[in-house]
Amino acid sequence: MSYSPRKKGDGRKEDLEVFHKGERWKPKAILFDLGDTLLMEEPGLSGKKHIWEIDFKRVPGAEEVLRELRHRYKLAVVTNTVTSREPQVRLALRRAGLEEYFDAVITSVDVGANKPEAAPFQEALRRLGALPSEAVMVGNRLDTDILGAKRLGIKAILLRREGIIEDKKEPRSPEEVPDYVINSLRKLPEILKLMEGVS
Ligand SMILES: [Mg+2]
Repeated sequence: MSYSPRKKGDGRKEDLEVFHKGERWKPKAILFDLGDTLLMEEPGLSGKKHIWEIDFKRVPGAEEVLRELRHRYKLAVVTNTVTSREPQVRLALRRAGLEEYFDAVITSVDVGANKPEAAPFQEALRRLGALPSEAVMVGNRLDTDILGAKRLGIKAILLRREGIIEDKKEPRSPEEVPDYVINSLRKLPEILKLMEGVS
C-alpha cells in the first residue's frame, strides 16, 4: 500500500476514519468497590458492618492485580461505609496489605452520599484527575457500583464471583447493565486490555 502525505484537515472522509482508528481509548483511573470486591465480607452483612468488624481477608487475586495495575493507572477505592472515614478504611486496607496501591480512598461518610449517588464517584475522579470517560469502576453490586458509574458515563465491570449468592441479581434497568462481567478479579488486567483494544 502506498502512502501519500496530505495536509491535515483537508476535509476528506478518510482523515476522520484514520483519526478515530488511531485514537486508542485508555482509561486513566480504575475505581474499586471495597467489600466483596477487594476484601471478603461475611454473607448477608454487606453495608451493615463497621470497618473494624470486617474480616480483612483479601478477595483472591486482589494483591497481584493491584500490583500490576498501579503502573498503568491511578487507583481509588470508592466505598459505602456506616461510620468509617478514610483513615479507618486505609487501616483496613493496610491490614490486608493493599493500602500502598491506592492514590485515593473515598468513603460515603466523608462525602456525605452513598453509591449509587454521583458524589462518591465524582470525588474519586476529582482526586485522580480523571474524566468519567477516562475511568472504569469495578464492583460486585449492580444497584450501587454499576448503576452509579453508568449514570455518570463511567464504564463498569461487575465482579460476580462464584458462590456469592447476593450477586445473582439481574439488572433492573439499562443503567444497571455492566460493560463486562468477570468471575475473578484475576481477569481484570485482561479485560482492561480488551477494552483498550490491545490484543
Ligand atoms: Mg461490595
